[in-house]
Amino acid sequence: MELFDVYSLFDVTPVRARGCKVWDDKGTEYLDLYGGHAVISVGHCHPHYVEALTRQAGRIGFYSNSVRNPLQEELARRIGVASGYEDYSLFLDNSGAESNENALKLASFHTGRDRVVAFRKSFHGRTSGAVAVTDNPAIVSPFNANHKVTFCELGDLAAVEAALLGGDVAAVIIEGIQGCGGINIPTAGFMQELSALCRKYGTVLVLDEVQSGYGRTGKFFAHQWTGIRPDIITMGKGIANGFPCGGILISPEFMARKSMLGTTFGGNYLACACALAVLDIIEDEGLMANALACGDYLLDSLSSCHPERSDCHPEPSSCHPERSEGSPAITSIRGRGLMIGIEFNGPIAELRRKLLYERHIFTGVAGTNIVRLLPPLCLTKEDCDYFLSNFAELTEI
Ligand code: PLP
Repeated sequence: MELFDVYSLFDVTPVRARGCKVWDDKGTEYLDLYGGHAVISVGHCHPHYVEALTRQAGRIGFYSNSVRNPLQEELARRIGVASGYEDYSLFLDNSGAESNENALKLASFHTGRDRVVAFRKSFHGRTSGAVAVTDNPAIVSPFNANHKVTFCELGDLAAVEAALLGGDVAAVIIEGIQGCGGINIPTAGFMQELSALCRKYGTVLVLDEVQSGYGRTGKFFAHQWTGIRPDIITMGKGIANGFPCGGILISPEFMARKSMLGTTFGGNYLACACALAVLDIIEDEGLMANALACGDYLLDSLSSCHPERSDCHPEPSSCHPERSEGSPAITSIRGRGLMIGIEFNGPIAELRRKLLYERHIFTGVAGTNIVRLLPPLCLTKEDCDYFLSNFAELTEI
């Protein structure tokens, strides 16, 4: 049997990893600025994480959600404290898409409505409802396309209000920072108005923090830079540093009913042990502050060569932007903490190929023109400098 061929693969075979470093089967060391797509939050194979997972596997790995699981209760308490949402409830599942699916289902149960407002350039996952609210027709099958969804431009409050006026909108779903859409940061003013509109029309505000959450931007959730408190917050990726896990935080306004949500694997002992170890490490090692400091350092350094292109740091110093004919130039640099997008005026496949195969640096991408950096939160200044010098050589900035 062969694998169903749906992934474009790098010609690299990682066999070992530690912190922000990955080694392939030939012993070559790579700097990981991609984190397996924002999943590796506390670094690869952290000893505390490995020990917690191993210890739990030797005790009990799985039963079901029909028995008491004190690890789930402990995790709810710890996420509540870490995020500042102690009065919310936690429902645990297995992935980002499943979290969004559950959030939209809960919003629909709560309001009795069936329409969702989502935003252009959004990505919310691959399951039926999650992909229906994702703005990418190439991955939406006819089966998924029957959901009632209205897409608005990010920032267009008038369009949102026009949709909410119909009275049938259960939820507005928005990413804390759009990731796959190219690191687009909604303004604080927009988020505050959006929150107020949702309240006015009795619509549930769902914040997808699957990629932007869990400390990546220097706050526990990216929306916490904007001063709002959404009704439901969805999580995935970094929550258990690679062990499959997701979850949603639910405001006290929602009433739970038996069987309203459910899952076989969600909240199992191993996922909980990993998620608890992740919170220990984030707290013990000050990783949220580190993410912000390293992110600021990267953004400042990149922006200092491109003052006119920085969307984040308005007072950079000067540099020498001579370039070779034909290679794409940087048009915009944006981000917060360790969620950074560097946009070019042309395709960057060749640049990323060189970064990976010649300089041994993993990076992510959004669309065809945007380099996306999503490293583990334990990145060091030396790692940043290694990237910056190699990136400067390859882009001739
Ligand atoms: N939401 C956002 C913002 C994401 O970036 C992703 C994945 O990239 C998802 C949801 C889906 O998560 P998963 O792949 O774990 O289902």
